[in-house]
Amino acid sequence: MKQALLDTLGHWLPDMTDIRRSIHAWPELAFQEVRTADTVARLLESWGIAVHRGLGTTGVVGSIVGRGPGRAVGLRADMDALPMPEANTFAHASQNPGVMHACGHDGHTTMLLAAARYLAEQRDFNGTVHVLFQPAEEGGGGARRMIEDGLFTQFPMDAVFGMHNWPGLPVGTFGLTEGPIMASSNRFNITLQGKGAHGAMPHLGVDPVVAAAQLTLAFQTILTRNKDPLDAGVISVTQIHTGSADNVIPDQAVLRGTVRTLDDAVLDLIEARMRALSTQLAAAMGCTADFHFSREYPATLNHPAETALCTEVLTGLVGTEHVQTAVRPSMGAEDFAFMLQQRPGCYVWIGNGTGDHRTPGHGAGPCTLHNSSYDFNDALIPLGAAYWVLLAQRALQAD
Ligand SMILES: [Zn+2]
Ligand SMILES: [Zn+2]
Repeated sequence: MKQALLDTLGHWLPDMTDIRRSIHAWPELAFQEVRTADTVARLLESWGIAVHRGLGTTGVVGSIVGRGPGRAVGLRADMDALPMPEANTFAHASQNPGVMHACGHDGHTTMLLAAARYLAEQRDFNGTVHVLFQPAEEGGGGARRMIEDGLFTQFPMDAVFGMHNWPGLPVGTFGLTEGPIMASSNRFNITLQGKGAHGAMPHLGVDPVVAAAQLTLAFQTILTRNKDPLDAGVISVTQIHTGSADNVIPDQAVLRGTVRTLDDAVLDLIEARMRALSTQLAAAMGCTADFHFSREYPATLNHPAETALCTEVLTGLVGTEHVQTAVRPSMGAEDFAFMLQQRPGCYVWIGNGTGDHRTPGHGAGPCTLHNSSYDFNDALIPLGAAYWVLLAQRALQAD
């Protein structure tokens, strides 16, 4: 059965590669995935799959009903691209200037399309497979928008599953872990108010630049002195905006950045300590601080039973030696986390390789996510699709 599946998916690879490259050539930003969603919906319909368009703005849900009654599962792919220029010059490079599929969502979409086609042709399961094509994974919270728009009430599901390509992990290899696999992502925006003065007469003002520098360094002590050293946490001040002239001490300095954790207790601690340091250190320096902290994506937490199920399916597909079952989590974030807050499930990584698949026409940079020389590895399409099919069949086993 597995060989027949791989043969069929291999046979479809040229067509699926064309689909993937067409999506790559026409990347669309969060909540603007109009062409991509239309491509997805038309293909699903052409394979006899019932389609719901426009969930959470541009999201698409295809529902594949099996032979008999049973449970329902959701398989999810993301469709959006990133606001960055593409350095590749091959034929399928971005035709939309300043927008690029640099995270492989074109590949995720295509792998799930191939699986949907196969499942719709075979229907050798009981219950329903919902294939979920979401908008706006890259910071827009498209998964949350689909949930708010009735994803789990309109399409009842017992479990949900996600997959992301992972450069650096060899092709043919998968990685997953129970519990946190991706971090929460959170933003902060702090305005330090001082008093402007002549750059030569600092004693007549209150310098927010020095306070911003002190605060940036003080935040790092939260990680080393306040949090348990065995807990993961990142505080990155990524922007400091202040000043307009060499000889002017400005009134204000603004600090912005990101906080990542795998766990809410650590996040609570970091937020509280950042708030305290901002207000108290600013006061100690004669400034005031306006502190804003916003929690964006929660940590992606894989559920134990579904992680075991995915491990079993992956082991059957590629063998124990090609399944890394306890990967170290990434401090990147993923809005599939919102779906895992609603339903049990599991999110896995599929190895995208080291970049060896790249042919002339790729940019000079490394083939890593969010790099302008990145390209999804088309060789993964049959493998990723086979995983989706075997997972759906196993989760909804026909008698
Ligand atoms: Zn990304
Ligand atoms: Zn991504």
